[in-house]
Amino acid sequence: MAPVTDLSFAIEPTTNPTPADHRADLIAKPVFGRVFTDHMAIVKYKEGKGWHDAKVTARKPLTLDPATAVLHYAQEIFEGMKAYCTENGGVASFRPEANARRFRASAERMAMAEVPEDLFIKAVDSLVAIDRDWVPSGEGQSLYIRPFMIASEVFLGVKPSSEYLFIVIASPVGAYFGSGCVSVWVSDDYSRAAPGGTGAAKCGGNYAASLVAQRESKHHGCDQVLFLDSREQRFIEEMGGMNVMFLRDDNTLVTPPLTGTILPGITRDAILQLAKERGLRVEETPIDINELFEGAANGRYREAFACGTAAVISPIGSLKRAEGEAVFGDGKTPGEVTLMLKKTLTDIQTGRSNDEHGWVHRIV
Ligand SMILES: *Cc1c(COP(=O)(O)O)cnc(C)c1O
Repeated sequence: MAPVTDLSFAIEPTTNPTPADHRADLIAKPVFGRVFTDHMAIVKYKEGKGWHDAKVTARKPLTLDPATAVLHYAQEIFEGMKAYCTENGGVASFRPEANARRFRASAERMAMAEVPEDLFIKAVDSLVAIDRDWVPSGEGQSLYIRPFMIASEVFLGVKPSSEYLFIVIASPVGAYFGSGCVSVWVSDDYSRAAPGGTGAAKCGGNYAASLVAQRESKHHGCDQVLFLDSREQRFIEEMGGMNVMFLRDDNTLVTPPLTGTILPGITRDAILQLAKERGLRVEETPIDINELFEGAANGRYREAFACGTAAVISPIGSLKRAEGEAVFGDGKTPGEVTLMLKKTLTDIQTGRSNDEHGWVHRIV
């Protein structure tokens, strides 16, 4: 059972809100993660005292002692979720209880204090409610929500921190990659995660470790990097921040299984369910990179896409590695099934179609 909390949030509206016309300019064409709303939610934790001092307050810089634990040993986790303007004029998030559960699992892996799931959802909902005018309503737009937790004890000894800050900030966003297909570099030199490591936890450290490979992908003219398993450098795992799926010519959607080295994406989970309901077969199975390259060449693998909250579904046009290229379709046009799955998912998220799964969580 998830721990429950009776903590409620003190609401301290900012005394210096962004003027409405400036806000309208800011959210008209948002660039991912550059513009932020007026407020943040913040809750403190201290061993022996538990979670306390929950508030929604003006967004402002944190003041941290230079010896704060997170700055040295990277005890940090985060989540990524979105709130959408819905057809009925409200604002809703998507499966927030799944993010709350995963945040607890990440905390457990990183030996951090666990945020009770209802406190997590309350923090997100309280922030979105006070900043609801920041939720953009254009096609493909949403409010990206970033809950995160840092080790805040001032101590250079190596041990789990006894103090934490749980914070939620939000940023109006548009489409992550724009339209069309992304090209992906397959990294043969770097691994993202290893058995027994932190691959299944959503922690900043995984991202730090992936950046050199991401930079390498840019050198090869690609948008993103795809990692292989660290034991054999043979089986596909995922991208730096997104899961990956392929459509085979026998109408089967295939994706690597969750074995502990892959982040269990909520988008991944939703797409697998929706695909089954739309009559596709679904296989969670290891995918050999060499077979995939052959299959792309002979037409066995027809479509490829990356999926995650930020980008929703990004069609992949081609995979490149030192010894060649795998092209899906004509390499430029998103696959039919890929687009169908994207529309099915976004229609649910924005209330354009019926929420048969109880995935949509109305906030205001
Ligand atoms: C967040 C994340 C994903 C996608 O998860 P969603 O819940 O679908 O947003 C995939 N891979 C990694 C490494 C991630 O950090």
